[in-house]
Amino acid sequence: MPKVYIDPGHGGTDPGAVGNGLQEKALTLDISLQLRNILLANWAVDVRMSRTTDITRSLAYRTDDANAWGANLLVSVHINSGGGTGFESYRYPTSDAATVNLHNALHPRVIGGMRTIGGVTDRGLKTANFHMLRESAMPAVLTENLFIDSVADSNLLRRADFITATARGHAEGIAAYLGLSAPNPPTFSTIVDNTTAGRFTASTNWGTSSYSAQRYGADYRFANPTLASDSAWFKVNIPAAGNYRVEVRHPADPGYNSSAPHVVVTASGNRTVNVDQRSSGGVWRSLGTFGLAAGDRNLVAVSRWTSSTGYVVADAVRVTRV
Ligand SMILES: [Zn+2]
Repeated sequence: MPKVYIDPGHGGTDPGAVGNGLQEKALTLDISLQLRNILLANWAVDVRMSRTTDITRSLAYRTDDANAWGANLLVSVHINSGGGTGFESYRYPTSDAATVNLHNALHPRVIGGMRTIGGVTDRGLKTANFHMLRESAMPAVLTENLFIDSVADSNLLRRADFITATARGHAEGIAAYLGLSAPNPPTFSTIVDNTTAGRFTASTNWGTSSYSAQRYGADYRFANPTLASDSAWFKVNIPAAGNYRVEVRHPADPGYNSSAPHVVVTASGNRTVNVDQRSSGGVWRSLGTFGLAAGDRNLVAVSRWTSSTGYVVADAVRVTRV
């Protein structure tokens, strides 16, 4: 198995750069731990890290450790400072072809990941005589992931979905360099029923019924339409920023609503899809594919706010990574 060495910059008594209430050492560790987890979850690789907690490591320790382990590549993760904005990455000035390949694979995928969340300036691929690049015996790249002293950059660095997207970009770059295939598709799929503990909320205006045999699970919830939202919410834990297919299931009945509003909380705002609940009952129906941010949140609402007549029904939601 390829051996991937991940070096979260700084740590312990060395906070690295600080600014806007953030510390470089914490951000580099957060990105690096997620990078490790994404790599191990998706590809057959070995991963070793220079640190997995907030401890002090010398630069010599880091490169000695990577060299002794016989890593096939090294990625050192840092946050920039000093009055700038954006992403840049470094290799040693007299690198071999393999290092150039790693650099070329990594850089665009990291910035591509970042740009799924927000606008990021591409400062380009650079060279520098850094210890981590000079003293490592394998292809090595150092990434400078935005500027901690930029207000705009720090606002991105504060977002969990941005950190995850940055880690995923690193992982995809490493996988591409190693010639590993795209991540295994069945990465994530989950169903939330109206009875799933802690994952469904609705006001007492929503009745409970097991009338229709098309129901998912034991029962479903229903309410009269009204010109107020009073939504029933399905809460879903999205493991990583990305594209997901969102489906709903409901029993159908001629007396149900012809235009029941379903609201999906996407990474770029709320999207409303109206569902005709008079037909297509008892099967999964796609609301579409949406870019979703990572995190556990109320994700899909069934709203009562419609001028169409007939009960609006909330039964089950399925979310699948695509
Ligand atoms: Zn640093």
